[in-house]
Amino acid sequence: MPDAVKSVWEQNATPRHRIQWCPGCGDFAVLNALKAALTTLELTPSEVLLVGGIGCSGQIRNYLNGNSFYGTHGGALAYALGAKMANPELTVLALAGDGDTLAIGVENFVHISRRDPDITLVIMDNGVYGLTKGQDSPSAGLGKHDGVFSEEHPPFLDPVKLALTCGATFIAQTFSGDPKHATEMYVEGVRHKGFAMVNDFSPCVTYNKFNTYDWFRAHCEMVPKDHDPSSEDAAWELIRDFERRDKLPLGVIYRRPRAKAPAKRLPVWPSELEGIAVEPMLQGLR
Ligand code: SF4
Ligand code: MG
Repeated sequence: MPDAVKSVWEQNATPRHRIQWCPGCGDFAVLNALKAALTTLELTPSEVLLVGGIGCSGQIRNYLNGNSFYGTHGGALAYALGAKMANPELTVLALAGDGDTLAIGVENFVHISRRDPDITLVIMDNGVYGLTKGQDSPSAGLGKHDGVFSEEHPPFLDPVKLALTCGATFIAQTFSGDPKHATEMYVEGVRHKGFAMVNDFSPCVTYNKFNTYDWFRAHCEMVPKDHDPSSEDAAWELIRDFERRDKLPLGVIYRRPRAKAPAKRLPVWPSELEGIAVEPMLQGLR
């Protein structure tokens, strides 16, 4: 490893806290893939903001060196957007679970997909709320075809289909059992100029005894080399083809940068705020 790259890796890899995930948790692979991706991108901790969700996955922000933020459950994408508006130079990654993204935070996911800010979301998708002892999340039921649903166990919600429906411009899927592939998808996501969603199947070895590493190995298949990710029709056809064959696509499913006006930077420093008449704005809120 060249010295410069080694130095970036070492800066990114310094954990701030003792790792508390269960042995074998898929989130370890997400962490390693993320370190490798930031190193590949030659990004140092000062150039990156990691916004964590709430839950086991959200702890990832404590296991890398650098800027990090977390707030309320479901809010990761909203905080990520705010940070990007305040400092467009920052590389902003939101790292959140499936419960965080697809349940309480689904409104942020829908509208961030529409708005297309230049931020990257990694969903650490395990189908359960691990931190609260394994209740079903909206992505529970992946691969179960017994057709027995209830209000308590409704059909599976697919983040890939939701993102495509809502206008996301980069949609990829990967698996913690293949960290090299995950690294590639994160790198591609960060390089994309717009909102990038990477759904990472990250098994919960403690509470999800159905979607295990072996189960994913048997069901995951790479996106074919001749797939055209710039075509929305091709993306839908690919998703349906994989569904029919009971497979899960890994790779870039959709990528189509959108032409748009440059994002406005929010004034944040006291010197910038001096020239703005804040009082009339506050009047409207009182
Ligand atoms: Fe990982 Fe599940 Fe353990 Fe949470 S409960 S750390 S998601 S294995
Ligand atoms: Mg989860």
